[in-house]
Amino acid sequence: MSEQDRHQQRQQKVKEKVDEKVAAANIEKGIFQVITGNGKGKSTSGFGVVTRCVGHGQNAAVAQFIKGMWDCGERNLLEKVGVPFAVMKTGFTWETQNRETDTAAAEETWQQAKKWLADDSIDLVLLDELTYMVSYDYLDLDEVISAIENRPKMQSVIVTGRGAHRRLTELADTVSEVRNVKHAFESGVKALKGFDY
Ligand code: ATP
Ligand code: MG
Repeated sequence: MSEQDRHQQRQQKVKEKVDEKVAAANIEKGIFQVITGNGKGKSTSGFGVVTRCVGHGQNAAVAQFIKGMWDCGERNLLEKVGVPFAVMKTGFTWETQNRETDTAAAEETWQQAKKWLADDSIDLVLLDELTYMVSYDYLDLDEVISAIENRPKMQSVIVTGRGAHRRLTELADTVSEVRNVKHAFESGVKALKGFDY
């Protein structure tokens, strides 16, 4: 048998296995994904899916639970194409460190997110940096879990942020952990507009 024949035979086997798995995946439902870990790329990944969704003419909505110090490039673009945003009014929580106003701001943003999680005209809800609201106890985890669990059947949800609570990762269909190998900031490089935010 020639090398080419052997290659073709191996590829045929791979194809059969993939086809089998594709045929077995026949559940149609919205997906709940958690993107966590200490590496860079969690929010950008979430926004990538928002772009994908909008690019197919579907509806996405974004709640940002930690307002950046800088304006957010994705928000500037996506608002222009009609994607609604709910942004927490206070700055980085580790800067403000005011439990009362932070909790109120988190709650206000969550109330809007909750409306989207009950609206079947929204195909995708991105809950950016929500994990911290749970860790700091700014939001009630039971309420968050219940809103995600009871969302419309075909709606997808993405939660991003470090240290995702176990109940969130257990409920999720897809969990990705972004690992930090190195980050430019560690060698003194400033956060760059158009790249980091
Ligand atoms: P991005 O928004 O770039 O996808 P992220 O969502 O994974 O990043 P966050 O923890 O939300 O990460 O941090 C947001 C900001 O912090 C970004 O400007 C990002 O470049 C920076 N950052 C992310 N990971 C690290 C890291 N390991 N060390 C230093 N800075 C980081
Ligand atoms: Mg982020």
